[in-house]
Amino acid sequence: MAQAVKELWPEVLLAIGPSIEDGFYYDFDRKTPFTDDDLMRIEERMCQIIGRNQPFIRKEVSKKEAQDYFTGLKEEYKLELLKEIPDEKVTFYKTGEDFTDLCRGPHIDSSAQIKAFKLLSVAGAYWHGIETNPMLQRIYGTCFNSENELKEHLQNLEDAKTRDHRKLGPALELFDIYQEEAGPGLVFYHPKGAMLRKIIEDYERSEHLKRGYEIVMTPHIMQACLWQTSGHYEYYKENMYTFKIEDKEFVLKPMNCPGHILIYKSKTRSYRDLPIRFFELGTVYRHEKTGVLHGLLRVRGFTQDDAHIFCLPSQLKDEIKAVIDFVFDTMKIFGFNDVGIELSTRPVKSIGTDEDWALATAALEDSLKDKGLEYEINAGDGAFYGPKIDIKLKDALKRKWQCATIQCDFSLPKRFGLEYIDSDGKAKQPVMLHRVILGSLERFMGALVEHYNGNFPLWLAPVQVAVIPIKDSTKAYAQKITEMLLEKQFRADIDERNETLNKRIAQAELEKVPYIVIVGDREAAKEAVSVRKKGKGDIGIMGINEFIGKLEEEVRNKNIDCSSPIRS
Ligand code: ZN
Repeated sequence: MAQAVKELWPEVLLAIGPSIEDGFYYDFDRKTPFTDDDLMRIEERMCQIIGRNQPFIRKEVSKKEAQDYFTGLKEEYKLELLKEIPDEKVTFYKTGEDFTDLCRGPHIDSSAQIKAFKLLSVAGAYWHGIETNPMLQRIYGTCFNSENELKEHLQNLEDAKTRDHRKLGPALELFDIYQEEAGPGLVFYHPKGAMLRKIIEDYERSEHLKRGYEIVMTPHIMQACLWQTSGHYEYYKENMYTFKIEDKEFVLKPMNCPGHILIYKSKTRSYRDLPIRFFELGTVYRHEKTGVLHGLLRVRGFTQDDAHIFCLPSQLKDEIKAVIDFVFDTMKIFGFNDVGIELSTRPVKSIGTDEDWALATAALEDSLKDKGLEYEINAGDGAFYGPKIDIKLKDALKRKWQCATIQCDFSLPKRFGLEYIDSDGKAKQPVMLHRVILGSLERFMGALVEHYNGNFPLWLAPVQVAVIPIKDSTKAYAQKITEMLLEKQFRADIDERNETLNKRIAQAELEKVPYIVIVGDREAAKEAVSVRKKGKGDIGIMGINEFIGKLEEEVRNKNIDCSSPIRS
């Protein structure tokens, strides 16, 4: 793309052009804005370049040589980039007659290997992201191995626009953010969103109890001294809300760990008691800059399905594996079948002994290997106190959402002086695992809304059945049906408004209710209902008990195909 731009407009200056998830971009300095026509011309030229089968030739040069080269071309941004590279040698990639760029590589061998690409958009971007720097023009593009994959990706991008949770959430009356009145990054759940959240929470509580966790609850504010001991006060202060009560400093909790630690410390623990697993749906508050807040994905107050596992070093691997199983089971239940896994290792700035880090990293990595899971390594991206596994779920449009994290920690147990009495009667230090399964419930709900496009499966749908009487004389029967459904713990709503039947059906469909039952004289006479299923239309008339049996089975199996139009 950069070569095409330079061929068309030699005066344009090149800034920086990395590959990104699902594509690439390049920042250009050009006096006039790139138009849609310009993008088409660039694409045409790119096709020509591909047709030329140009090899990409790597060349290592000294920094001085590189400086001379870009000085000759007056490529001022490349010269600035060179200054920021500490190495003495840099690499050039040359293609075509005279196009050479500074690039770390690696690169494909030849332009002919490019199969299917598309330029997507142009956006303004400050040089180095700093507002006082010149504004450049960033052209985004994407590239795939086949036309089909490209087509699917472009379709996904189109779909993503219409299922943005920031639009769908308020439209389906799930949640909203009252930026002006309440402040940015704070989520309000409306009745339907709160119902969805309750269903998720109920599921989580029972699933944690099944898997040997104990539920705890801890306060939202705690004294600053606790956060000094934990290290958050020193390492995390800019993200914490602090305030004074009676001359003592307090912190609005940004994490749940210190609270769980206090409960662990409340009595003497024996090696026989371990592992101890404390679970909390813990609401935390973190200061995020206004600019990075984004719908439910980046907020200032959110609830984590947070647990801390205190265990013997010998139990570490089994505990990690059990958490991985828990994550996969949960993802499947919620209808996510694809995940991406990353293992983050020791950063430069970190605490703890080499031995602890090696043990923790090996425990995480071995667990992934034992499970036969593929993962990428994020070297140096662990927390300052320990390595971690991040699991990102992929939604219906193949976008990744951060959810589960499993973090190994030897540091907090040390800082808080945690102990257990071992079989030899000596006090020893337990290992601590921090882990979330869904992560932030807010973010997870954002992912759910977009994954299903608001068409939740029956067990998650805030309203499961809309009951519509055809006329006034069947209202009493419709009420009876509604009561029967409520009695059986289904979430049913009756629509008795004086609107036409079609209008009321359209409204329930707009609200994406999985089942609509319509009752008239014919149905009332037979103790039956006429059923419309979302995505399928009219599925016929059936006895009320048959209908209830059908709902029960679908909820029990947590069918995700009931509202199959993940794509509708
Ligand atoms: Zn924690």
